This record gives sequence, structure tokens and C-alpha cells, in this order.
Amino acid sequence: MAAATNGYTIDDAIDGLKKLLSENNDLQAVAASKIKLLTAELKGADADAFNPVERIRDGFARFKKEKYEANPTLYGQLATGQSPKFLVFACSDSRVCPSHILDFQPGEAFVVRNIANMVPPYDTVKHSGAGAAIEYAVVHLKVENIVVIGHSCCGGIKGLMSIPEDGSTASDFIEQWVKIGLPAKSKVRTDFSDMDHSDLCTKCEKEAVNVSLGNLLTYPFVREAVVNKKLSLKGGHYDFVKGAFDLWNLDFGISASLL
Ligand SMILES: [Zn+2]
Repeated sequence: MAAATNGYTIDDAIDGLKKLLSENNDLQAVAASKIKLLTAELKGADADAFNPVERIRDGFARFKKEKYEANPTLYGQLATGQSPKFLVFACSDSRVCPSHILDFQPGEAFVVRNIANMVPPYDTVKHSGAGAAIEYAVVHLKVENIVVIGHSCCGGIKGLMSIPEDGSTASDFIEQWVKIGLPAKSKVRTDFSDMDHSDLCTKCEKEAVNVSLGNLLTYPFVREAVVNKKLSLKGGHYDFVKGAFDLWNLDFGISASLL
């Protein structure tokens, strides 16, 4: 079958024309040559159009040939289970895939991606999606590191920094979600009051990571694993304009007595 464009295929178009012709013989002579022309045009136009199905099929074929079939030992092991060392929080931004920029191989990193790489505070109702991922990674997979990675030019952070003073929001979900980072916004506004909006956003990209690291400690199983030195929390920031990556540890100074 020919490729679909907006759910309507070339085959559908040609079938429609044929049906029209069969219903009206008078049209046949005039339309016979036109149908050829139209078919050629449709196919020509289609050849230039982005085809998502082909992109996906080609991508998987390349992966299967160059990676999957070339590494039978790795994929054989992964078929029996996973034991990633990292839980990574990264932004949904298409430019910052952590497996790509940190060269994580399959099985190395359990990844959560959302707008502005936020870790929400423990809340079994509002944030069960994030909570489930953290619980699974920490309690069942026993990851040894959680890394929260911010990035340059983050639209989510810009959105957070642009929420009006009265807290009013215009979107259904986005601003409500990025408000998780409000403590970071307040801190950079106070600490860098002379800075322009763009530089403040850059500061907030990093400070919001620290807020997320703090929020991780609101999960009892995270706190317990950190205190028992089974788990370490790290912050990161990827600058795709400069091609740089910062990594830092936060010393929370917590002890077993805080559990
Ligand atoms: Zn982002």
C-alpha cells in the first residue's frame, strides 16, 4: 500500500478516481490521461514528504542490524533482566536524551523524562507516576545513583520563570507542573536580583535540579537508601550550546536520626 498522508493514502485517491470513472463513462476519455498525471504527481509529492512509518521502520532495521545483532551477549543478558546502576531524570526536550549524551547502553539507566526534569515531592495522589518510577528503581532495581539532569535553553524553566507574580496560569498542565520548581525560582530571584531574565533562567535550570534532589529525600525509601550509603544523589546540567556537562553531588548532611 502506498504511504499515508493525513490518514489518506495515494491508493485511496486512485481508487476514488477509478470509482468516479466507472460511474460516469463520459468522463473516461478526458480523465484517462489526467489520472496518469495525477498519480505521478501524487507519488512524486509523496516521495518528498516525511514518512513517519518509514522513519520508524528504517530506524529499527538499522538498530537491529548494527546494535542488536552485533551484540548478542549484551542483548542475551538483557533478555533475562535488568540491573541498571542509574535512575536518571531528564527533560522531555528532544535534544537532551540522556542515553545519547552520556552514551548509556541498554540496561544501564532507568530513565524518567518530563517537562523540565522535575522530581515532584512525595505525593501518592498528585505525583504517582514519578513516585512509581522512583519506588521501582530504588526498591526493586536497587539503583546506586539517581541523577537529575537539567539543560540549557529549557522551555519548561523559561515557563516557570515567566509565571506571573500572582501565580495565575494560562495552560492546562505545563505551569502547574513546573511550579514544582518554585523554590528554585525564588532563590535565584533573591540571589541574583540584578540579572536579566535569560541569565536568571540559566541559573534556575541548575537550581531547579537542586530542588529536585531535595524532593527526592521526601521519599522514605530514597532517604533510607541514602542514609545507608546504598544510594547517591547527583545533579547535572547539559549545555548543548557550549557542548558542556556539569556534574555535582549534594551533601545533605542527613543522618540516620532524621529517618
Ligand atoms: Zn527542558
